[in-house]
Amino acid sequence: MALKAIGVIGAGQMGNGIAHVCALAGYDVVMSDISLERAKAALEVISGNMDRQLAKDLISEADRDAALKRIVPTDDLGAFHESDLVIEAASENETVKKQIFTTLCPKLKESALIASNTSSISITRLAAITDRPEHFMGVHFMNPVPVMKLVELIRGIATDEGTYQVIREFAVNIGKTPTAAEDFPAFIVNRILLPMINEAVYTLYEGVGSVEAIDTAMRLGANHPMGPLQLADFIGLDTCLAIMQVLHEGLADSKYRPCPLLVKYVEAGWLGRKTKRGFYDYRGDAPVPTR
Ligand code: NAD
Repeated sequence: MALKAIGVIGAGQMGNGIAHVCALAGYDVVMSDISLERAKAALEVISGNMDRQLAKDLISEADRDAALKRIVPTDDLGAFHESDLVIEAASENETVKKQIFTTLCPKLKESALIASNTSSISITRLAAITDRPEHFMGVHFMNPVPVMKLVELIRGIATDEGTYQVIREFAVNIGKTPTAAEDFPAFIVNRILLPMINEAVYTLYEGVGSVEAIDTAMRLGANHPMGPLQLADFIGLDTCLAIMQVLHEGLADSKYRPCPLLVKYVEAGWLGRKTKRGFYDYRGDAPVPTR
C-alpha cells in the first residue's frame, strides 16, 4: 500500500513539524487542531520555518510554495476521510487522545492506518480504543521535527507486520532514520532522557546549582549541545511532567517520581518556550533564568 494523503491531528510544535516534513516530501496533508484559528496559525508557523530553511538553501522557493499548498488546515475530523495515514500529535493526555480516536475512527476509510506521536503512553492501550488495533502503531518524532533525524517506531501488541513495514517506508521517505522500540513506558529516548531532565530539576530544587550553573555544567562538562533545563523548556514542561508521570505509574518505581518543582512550574502555567516562561524567561531579547 502506497501512502499519499497524510492527516495530522494537533497542530502544536510537533504536529506542525510533522505536517511540514510530510508536505515537503510530497504528501498531501490535512492538519487539524481544536479550532480553525489554531490550525491556520500552525500553517503560518510552518511557512516561517520553511522560510528559514530557504534562507539556509536547504529547500528552494518552488519546494516551499508547493509544500505549503499541500497542507489544508481544519478543525473538523471529518476532513480525514481520504487520509491513508492519520498521525495523532495532540497534547500528551490519554483522555484527550482516546476521545480523538473514538471520534476519528468512524470518519476514516477502512484501509486507513493510525499512528500516535505520543512520547510515553502505551500504544497497545491507545490502539485498543480504536476499531483497528492491527493498523495502529507509535511513530515518535523528535523535536524540532524538520531538523531531528530519528523516528522511534513502536508496535502495539496487535500491530500487524504490513502496517509496520508501510509506516517504516513512510518514515524513510520523509528523510528520517527509523529505529524500533518496544511498547514500554516512554520507549527508548524518553526513558533515558526524561529521568536526566527530572534529576536536573531536583538538582535545582535542592539548591545544588542555579539554572545557569546546571545548564553550563552539562553543556561543558558532559558535552551536551543544550543544558537539561534549556532542553526541558524546549520540550515543554507539561510534556516533561506527563512523561515522568507515565514512567512513575507505568513502572511503579519511586526513582521516576516527578520533581515537585517541575509540578510547580506546570501549575503556574510556565511551560517553557511555548508560553515564553519556564526555567528561563523568553520575553526579552535573551533568555533570563527564572531561578
Ligand atoms: P503542544 O502543546 O505544542 O501541541 C498540542 C496541540 O494539540 C495543541 O495545539 C492543542 O491545541 C492540540 N489539541 C489538544 N487537544 C486536541 C484535540 N482534541 N484535537 C485536536 N488538537 C488538539 O504539544 P507538542 O509538544 O506538539 O506535543 C504533542 C504530542 O507530541 C504529545 O503527545 C507529546 O508527548 C508528543 N511529543 C512531544 C515532543 C516534544 O519535544 N515536545 C517530542 C516528541 C513527541
